[in-house]
Amino acid sequence: MVVDQTGAMPPDSAAEPPTTARPCASWPCQSICLWRQTDEQWYDERAGELAVFSCGGCGSEWVRTEPWTPVDATGQVPAAVAAERFR
Ligand SMILES: [Zn+2]
Repeated sequence: MVVDQTGAMPPDSAAEPPTTARPCASWPCQSICLWRQTDEQWYDERAGELAVFSCGGCGSEWVRTEPWTPVDATGQVPAAVAAERFR
């Protein structure tokens, strides 16, 4: 009798690879917009690790490689966004 080993469990990867950067969701921001940093991090080949921000109002996403800057409903750039921008 031949035991087939090829059907074995795939090897566990040692570490989860970072999420590859993808285009951000972008929606028209509304007067209820409130940006905050998410737990997510993307990896961009040129820029490296990117903290991902999301807007609780319209569902837009932002990383510092985007050409625009998020603004809260108050008209101010959130401090965490500003810090990431100038990293
Ligand atoms: Zn928004």
